[in-house]
Amino acid sequence: MDNEKKRSASFSKGLLQSGELYQYVLETNVYPREPELLKELRDMTATHPRAIMATAPDAGQLIAMLLKLINAKRTIEVGVFTGYSLLLTALTIPEDGKIVAIDMNREAYEIGLPVIRKAGVENKIEFIESEALPVLDQLLEDPGNENGFDFAFIDADKINYWKYHERLMKLVKVGGIVVYDNTLWAGSVAMPEECTPEILREGRQRTLEFNKLLAGDPLVEISLAPLGDGITICRRMH
Ligand code: SAH
Ligand code: CA
Repeated sequence: MDNEKKRSASFSKGLLQSGELYQYVLETNVYPREPELLKELRDMTATHPRAIMATAPDAGQLIAMLLKLINAKRTIEVGVFTGYSLLLTALTIPEDGKIVAIDMNREAYEIGLPVIRKAGVENKIEFIESEALPVLDQLLEDPGNENGFDFAFIDADKINYWKYHERLMKLVKVGGIVVYDNTLWAGSVAMPEECTPEILREGRQRTLEFNKLLAGDPLVEISLAPLGDGITICRRMH
């Protein structure tokens, strides 16, 4: 990909005060540390018409650190796309770790799958092609899954984020972490509605509602980190 295109693709994900500053962070701290196969998957995804959906690499770097800090073994991934955050997780958790990865569309996952296989981590992944909500409910039918997960990364339909949260507060153990992606919605959460481009409006509304609910939730400690498109880190306290 040429530099110009690369810059604009990253800029649209980064929310720092300038594209140059975001590029600086990526080039000095993120890309040099990014595992080779993750880079390969990111490059493959870059030509996809919906490439913008892939998790931002700077957010990914923090997610990997969180996984390590809590020694995450069993995780949930809602919203796989071509698998950037999924591969990142699979590379980070231990050999006997397991990820339940849910996406209602398998097509994009197939694009990243050869790289996941090359990395030798497919055995850690259970991919479920489905709407996420019924799968989370199904998981909860087995009492063995209650408090059974260490970590979850949620990056699918924003309209259901709160419903996912309610389920995750039972699936993820106390002390476990849930990360929600896109919680700054391209910065639109701080724009007046009339100045918000039409295409962002609904997501902006959903994000505002979700962020408010989360901020008032006594079950979690939270931190909204302005990486990528905004990630909110929640630690289950009770
Ligand atoms: N984490 C991914 C990006 C996910 S993009 C990465 O790092 O690349 C969002 C994904 O959520 C899409 O692949 C879409 O198919 C999926 N999705 C949207 N709504 C969904 C739903 N209700 N249930 C499950 N998956 C959904
Ligand atoms: Ca996302």
